[in-house]
Amino acid sequence: MRPQAGPAPVTPILEVIREAAEAVGGLGAVDAVAIAVPGWVNASGGIVNRAVNLGWEELPLAAIVAGELGLPCTVENDATLAAAGLIGSALVAGVSSFAYVSLGTGIGAGLVLDGEAYRGVRGMAGEVGHVVVEEDGSPCACGRRGCLETVAAAPGIVRAAQEMRADGGSGPAPRELTARDVYLAAAAGDAVAATVIDRAARVLTGALVDLSVACDLEVVVLGGGVALAGETLLAPVRAELHRLRSASPLVAGVLGPDGIRLHPRPADAVVDSAVAFARGRSGRGGEAPA
Ligand SMILES: [Zn+2]
Repeated sequence: MRPQAGPAPVTPILEVIREAAEAVGGLGAVDAVAIAVPGWVNASGGIVNRAVNLGWEELPLAAIVAGELGLPCTVENDATLAAAGLIGSALVAGVSSFAYVSLGTGIGAGLVLDGEAYRGVRGMAGEVGHVVVEEDGSPCACGRRGCLETVAAAPGIVRAAQEMRADGGSGPAPRELTARDVYLAAAAGDAVAATVIDRAARVLTGALVDLSVACDLEVVVLGGGVALAGETLLAPVRAELHRLRSASPLVAGVLGPDGIRLHPRPADAVVDSAVAFARGRSGRGGEAPA
């Protein structure tokens, strides 16, 4: 892939920002823009080093957007942005080191250590989505097999449910099955769906506990579309955390019984933090920026 310098790949983003600005009276009423990118980001330089799902490489996104709109622009990894936005919030009151983990099409993670966002060289510090949890498991977009993403992100949940039904589970799966369908079915008592969710939650919890032990975290906050499953997701996570804490004083010493928590607005965690960041960048706490 060639490095991209022009505004062409950014055009849809510019359109979205302009549309959003219309809701608050146009670009003139906007102070700053913050963009959350699922990928490797050089935040200080405003450059997207690589976003595999978007096909971006070495894209100077902040400079392009700032040049096109005439507004200051911040670019940050989406999960890192969400984590940083939680600093000082009630959800992590009294907690100085935590992770925000986004469960959706993939699994992203952002770290806050000793009260400050820790990005790592590429803004990817703490990423647990590509920790291998299943030897010879399903192929992952990253090139390995059996990554946490392949089990606990939305496509992995759907695939597991479809495979179990194909193996003689309760009836044929709908053609357009979603992770939400699987969670709803589990909540309604479907045994196949409950088995899939329990397994995903167990594997996810194990990886989050490992991350917490490795980085000495006090709390992990779950967000993203899959976290909209709420208690259906959290109950088996809590049960597995309880099991791991009971088995290991080390684990019990790192994460408390409520060490893994749901974000109160799981689908909006990144947007909430982006707004807070843009406000800080603009130096004003006024109108909500795009
Ligand atoms: Zn992977």
